[in-house]
Amino acid sequence: MIPVQGYTGKTVAVLGLGRSGRAAAAALAAGGAHPVVWDDSAVARDAAKEAGFDLRDLTKPDAFDAVACLIVSPGIPHLYPSPNPVIAAAWDAEVPVDNDIGLFFRSFATDEWESFDTVPRVIAVTGSNGKSTTAALIHHIVVENGRPAQLAGNIGRGVLDIEPAHDGEVVVLELSSYQTDLARSMTPDVAVFINLSPDHLDRHAGLGGYFAAKRRLFAEGGPDRAVIGVDEAEGRYMANQLTEGPGDDRVIRISSGQKLGGRGWTVFARKGFLSEYRKGRQVGSVDLRAIGGLPGAHNHQNACAAYAACRTLGLGPKGIEAAMQSYPGLPHRSQVVLDRDGVRFVNDSKATNVDSAAQALQAFPKIRWICGGLQKEGGLDGLLPHLDHVAKGYVIGREAASFARQLTGCETEVCGTMDVAVTRAAADAKPGEVVLLAPAAASFDQYDSFEARGDDFIERVMALFR
Ligand code: ADP
Repeated sequence: MIPVQGYTGKTVAVLGLGRSGRAAAAALAAGGAHPVVWDDSAVARDAAKEAGFDLRDLTKPDAFDAVACLIVSPGIPHLYPSPNPVIAAAWDAEVPVDNDIGLFFRSFATDEWESFDTVPRVIAVTGSNGKSTTAALIHHIVVENGRPAQLAGNIGRGVLDIEPAHDGEVVVLELSSYQTDLARSMTPDVAVFINLSPDHLDRHAGLGGYFAAKRRLFAEGGPDRAVIGVDEAEGRYMANQLTEGPGDDRVIRISSGQKLGGRGWTVFARKGFLSEYRKGRQVGSVDLRAIGGLPGAHNHQNACAAYAACRTLGLGPKGIEAAMQSYPGLPHRSQVVLDRDGVRFVNDSKATNVDSAAQALQAFPKIRWICGGLQKEGGLDGLLPHLDHVAKGYVIGREAASFARQLTGCETEVCGTMDVAVTRAAADAKPGEVVLLAPAAASFDQYDSFEARGDDFIERVMALFR
């Protein structure tokens, strides 16, 4: 745990008692603050009480008397679609609002670091798609190259839950737009922006607000090095803003698909090969086709981002390539579940938006595509140019019929539930084809989470061959 600095003897309110909220409360207490905690859910409150935390009803008038700060969980809206009333009350009471990420950055460095040979580094990863894959890949490469590393953030471990840094440690944080929007302090040594496509528009009042939230990672304090995906205009704009002129290698520009020119530092993937250029000369390359855990152009984008981030640490191209080869992949992201009679079953349940599903559809030549669920704002038009590899769509979800109607350009069957979709797709699949779950939608109409949806897919696939 990282004891929170700067609030010793003070009362700090914590709103939201999920993973990050509970970790924040514990880390505040470890730093000598007095956390008072609240959650709308009685179950969460009871669990916190049982764990020894003091509850305070933050919805009551005067709840913020003598409170130094309010720490908010990422799931709670502070602005759009409308401010949570507790947050609005904190504004009115002139109490600063922050989150666990802000607390982490003000607390991570300690006096002990002065005795270290190599100062610990923080690499923060953001983007619309590929954050978890890139963060996990960086972590894997660093560890395989013999440096201590920890992985936290949006990826399953609260940032304040990690251990204090060892000499030479690398901390890799996956940060969502909700997290970067609110944190009062963000000072990573290396910041990574993979890509941008519409997502979470309701929480940011549109694409501009969403980009502004991600951009804060590069604006507040300014990282020593920035790894920036330049396949969208937003990335090119940000790379330009952060560089002084040609050849400035504070920024490493990355791309999947384009050969990047110029005298600056670049890493790009084309036709399955990653190339690194610096000052106009090629200085590294990796054959990505040989790396089983990272299939498709979208994963090649993640590979470029991870490679670039690791190069800023001084790791060599060969060591990075060797570690990529042993990258095991993450569950629910291009996860190969089974290879049977020439048919591969791939679980990409994390493809919860149109862009990530479109990427998955390009990663395999012939696809039996299981899709559908709770549709996101913006419609499905973004999928239509990417249906040429789809032999047929098997549509699930409560609104399966309307989802299927929008997929003009490929044959579809309304299946409704996962068991029907898996059975039908497996029966139709021929050797060489892939049965792919890439829903292009959220899971909440039928499941508690994308993980539960992916687990259901795996179970149904396994049941077919039992
Ligand atoms: P995030 O943490 O940003 O949601 P993940 O690594 O968990 O990203 O991947 C989420 C989904 O997006 C998966 O379906 C995955 O196959 C797809 N994906 C991964 N990397 C990219 C990328 N660079 N561009 C587009 N889609 C991607």
